[in-house]
Amino acid sequence: MQDFDIAVIGAGAAGLSTAAVAAGQGASVAVFDDNALPGGQYFRQLPTSFIRTCKIAFDKDVDRGRLLYQAVTHRNVTYYPSATVWNVLEGNVLAFSGAARSDHVRARLIVVAAGAHDRPVPFPGWTLPGVVTAGGLQNLIKGQRVIPGRRAVVAGNGPLVILVGANLVRAGARLLATAEAAPVARRAMRDAIGLAAAPGIVRQAADYASTVFRSGAQRLSGWTVIEARGAGECEEVVLAPIDAAGQIDRAAARNFAADLLVTGFGLVPSIEILRICAVDLGWSRLRGGWLPRRSEDFETTRPGIFAVGDGSAIGGVEIALVEGRLMGLIAAQRLGLIGPDERRRLAAGDVARLKRLSRFRAALERIYEPPRNFLHLITPETMVCRCEEVTSARLQERRDAGLVGINALKSATRAGMGRCQGRNCLSTLIDLESEATGAPRELVPLSGARPPARPVLLQDLLATPMPPLEPPDPALAHLPRGQRVD
Ligand SMILES: Cc1cc2nc3c(=O)[nH]c(=O)nc-3n(C[C@H](O)[C@H](O)[C@H](O)COP(=O)(O)OP(=O)(O)OC[C@H]3O[C@@H](n4cnc5c(N)ncnc54)[C@H](O)[C@@H]3O)c2cc1C
Repeated sequence: MQDFDIAVIGAGAAGLSTAAVAAGQGASVAVFDDNALPGGQYFRQLPTSFIRTCKIAFDKDVDRGRLLYQAVTHRNVTYYPSATVWNVLEGNVLAFSGAARSDHVRARLIVVAAGAHDRPVPFPGWTLPGVVTAGGLQNLIKGQRVIPGRRAVVAGNGPLVILVGANLVRAGARLLATAEAAPVARRAMRDAIGLAAAPGIVRQAADYASTVFRSGAQRLSGWTVIEARGAGECEEVVLAPIDAAGQIDRAAARNFAADLLVTGFGLVPSIEILRICAVDLGWSRLRGGWLPRRSEDFETTRPGIFAVGDGSAIGGVEIALVEGRLMGLIAAQRLGLIGPDERRRLAAGDVARLKRLSRFRAALERIYEPPRNFLHLITPETMVCRCEEVTSARLQERRDAGLVGINALKSATRAGMGRCQGRNCLSTLIDLESEATGAPRELVPLSGARPPARPVLLQDLLATPMPPLEPPDPALAHLPRGQRVD
């Protein structure tokens, strides 16, 4: 088993910045990412087999990422592309399953920079072909130069709505409408001072808004999607006003003949690995739901395991970059490569920048504060867990039969047990459970987290040399084989 000073999970903005800074200070770093090329979500690159004949608007992110990509070629960095980390064992041992090989490595420090995924919000028709999430669409545009439709509606909550609208216009789609669930225009005026903390990002947002405005699309704020209709694929999208409590004014609904509906209801931190590490979590509705509790040095409650970027709280790409650079210095100090004074000196600029960006982020969260929930969009036939095809009615039926809690419903219906392992339905299951029991979301117990954190081929598991097993615990010797221990 190979040993490193630091293992970084995720080669996005946060992970690459961590690796670049720590390797620059002399640390040996292993970087794992399940994509073939470094960059993560924001700095996603085209496959190497693509030939770029001209530059388009999206290429500016790739141009900006060039310095960052170089992190994986640093002499102190060992890069594992197309490698999924699926378990973290005692002693900071990581198990990974990769295209080239599957194995274990050990690291003195582990930095989880796993990013986020779209928050899916179920509504009638959300599983129709032609209905995609905002992040998924960004990946198709940035990573494949594809738009999966021509007449588009974008609906959801958060800054990605306007960004995706602008990108669709730039990519050549006809944008019919954007629907933002929060009444943002009114709130933005009140929070002008907070927004002024990041004028560059505000200018960028104004540029997106002006692209959408010039396209002639209807721009609705305080509106949401309530249904996508079509025989086998999306043909029509229905939008309606929504209030702060999540109540929908169906009488005022408008229909759009769209073959593409992009939904972006915000992002959820990817905490699968952190849950396997059993770190303490806290709840923040505005920053993505369940988040790892962290010290000022980004350390989780499990010593030696750190979390940075969107995988620790949704903050956006600029915060991910800054946290990554600071993390590199924190790690270098922990490893004894630099002293505290040196770290303070090198970190000063980014510490100030992080404070400014955090003020901006807080303003953004107030402006985009979503309705209390989107549960009124769900009908009994609506699929809640799309992997296992579990409807809202099926969940209710089991609840009526006396089952309480996400774990019990999971066992009875398989909701959350499919290929995505709950990434697509856990946030809805929490909302539904909170609504049904009256318990606040942060008091709804989560279902258990077990390896593998992501789908892994059985052949990879079998090929993975396991570290030596601990000798059996003599206290358990009396148990007959196969007996379940709860
Ligand atoms: C799908 C999607 C698209 C987005 N598009 C945009 C956009 O166009 N513009 C914008 O401003 N913001 C966008 N965002 C938000 C923005 O990408 C993030 O704020 C930013 O990328 C955060 O950087 P990060 O390093 O924290 O995470 P990321 O850039 O997401 O990097 C995390 C990386 O870790 C990898 N990973 C996770 N778990 C494992 C594991 N177990 N094993 C191996 N690898 C793992 C992921 O595949 C990913 O490559 C998007 C977010 C998502 C989820």
